[in-house]
Amino acid sequence: MGYSVEKLSEEKVFKDPVHRYIHVRDRVIWDLIGTKEFQRLRRIRQLGTTFLTFHGAEHSRFNHSLGVYEIVRRIIDDVFAGRPEWNDEDRLLALCAALLHDLGHGPFSHSFEKVFEFDHEDFTRAIILGNTEVNKVLAKAGADFPEKVAEVIAKTSGKKLVISLISSQIDADRMDYLQRDAYYTGVSYGHFDMERILRVMRPREDQVVIKKSGMHAVEDYIMSRYQMYWQVYFHPVSRSAEVILSKILHRAKDLYEHQYTFKHEPHHFYSFFHDNVTLEDYVKLDESVILYYFQIWQDEDDAILRDLCRRFMNRSLFKYAEFDPAKEYKKLAELTALFKKAGIDPEYYLVVDSSSDLPYDFYRPGEEEERLPIHLLMSNGDLKELSRESEIVDAISGKRRTDHKLYFPADFIYDDSSKKNLKKQIRSLLEG
Ligand code: ZN
Repeated sequence: MGYSVEKLSEEKVFKDPVHRYIHVRDRVIWDLIGTKEFQRLRRIRQLGTTFLTFHGAEHSRFNHSLGVYEIVRRIIDDVFAGRPEWNDEDRLLALCAALLHDLGHGPFSHSFEKVFEFDHEDFTRAIILGNTEVNKVLAKAGADFPEKVAEVIAKTSGKKLVISLISSQIDADRMDYLQRDAYYTGVSYGHFDMERILRVMRPREDQVVIKKSGMHAVEDYIMSRYQMYWQVYFHPVSRSAEVILSKILHRAKDLYEHQYTFKHEPHHFYSFFHDNVTLEDYVKLDESVILYYFQIWQDEDDAILRDLCRRFMNRSLFKYAEFDPAKEYKKLAELTALFKKAGIDPEYYLVVDSSSDLPYDFYRPGEEEERLPIHLLMSNGDLKELSRESEIVDAISGKRRTDHKLYFPADFIYDDSSKKNLKKQIRSLLEG
C-alpha cells in the first residue's frame, strides 16, 4: 500500500470548540501536522492585534488550519464521495491544500508584509517546495505532489473544483474563520448554518455549487461575513494597535538604516531590514520572537521606538477621529505642520488608516481579490448566479464600503506641560 493512501491504524481526534471534533485518518495529514513548519502556526495568532480589542481572540492559525481541513474533509467524505462529478483521487490533494493554505503566514502578517514589502503566499509556496519537513512529507506521497499542492493554494492549478473548495466566495477557509473568529471574540455575528450549507453543496467540473434549497443559509452566511468585517476585522481599536505595530517596525528599520546602535541587536530582523529574507530566517519568526523585541525595545535610547513599544505592550493605543481624505487633505496638512512644531513626529504619530470591503461580488475582473461567484443549482439542472435569485444578496452586491480614520496619541495632545497653544490648535482641529 502506498504512503499516499495509507491510513492510521486508529483515527486521531482533536477536540475543537467550533467543529467539536477534527478527525484524522490519513497518514500524510497526521505527518504534516507534526512538522515544525506546521507547528509554528501555533505561535501565530489568527487575528493579529484583535486580541487587544476582544481579549478572547488569542486563537492561532494552527486552530484555523485544522478547521479548514476538517470542513473540506467533511465535504468530500460526507457529501461528494461517490458522486460522478467528484474524482476521489483529488481527495488527498484537497485535504493537504486545505491544511497548508495559510502555512506562509508570519507574525502579525498584515503589518509585516506592508512594512517589509513581501507576500506571505510566496512563503507558503517556498515552505511547500523548499528544504523543509513539510516538503519531505508531501514528496513521499508523490514526487510532483508538493508542486500540485502549491498550485492549488496559488490558484494556478487546473483543478478548479479543488481550488473552489479552498478559495471562492463560499469556501472552507471563510466558513471556518467566520465561525472561529466569532467564537473566540465572543460576538453574536458570524454564526450561520454551516451544516445546512455542507449538505447542499454539489461538485461540478469547475466549481462547487449550492442547491437552490440552500439559498437562505447562504444569504445568512454572506450577511454574517459582512457583519464580521465591520464589527470585528475592521474594528477601529484593533486598527489602532495595527498602526502602532507598523510604526514600530518602520522605526526599527529606519534606525537600523541610520546606523543606530541598538542596546540589544535585533538579529531576527536583519534579513528583513536588508530585504534579503531566506526561508530559514522566515520560519524562525513567530509572535513570541516579535513580542520579545517589543518588550526589550521599551528600554531603548530612541524615544520614538521606546514609546511605541510601550504603547503596544501596555495597550496604550492611539485615539482616532473620522477622516475624509477627499475633503480634509488641507486639515491633514495643517495638522502635520502643527505636530512638527509641537515636537510630535507626524510620520509616527499622525496616521491615516483605511479599510475597505466588498461583501459579495459576481464579476469584477481585475479586482485584487477576484473570487468565483456563487452559483445556485436549480431543480432543472441549470446554474444561476446567486444575486440574480436572492434580493438580499443583490442589494449588497458589488458595493464597496471604505472607512478612513485618523490616528493620533491623545495623551501627547492633551498634555499641556509644554507647547500649550500649539496643542490647543491641534485639539480644535481634531475635534472640529
Ligand atoms: Zn485561512
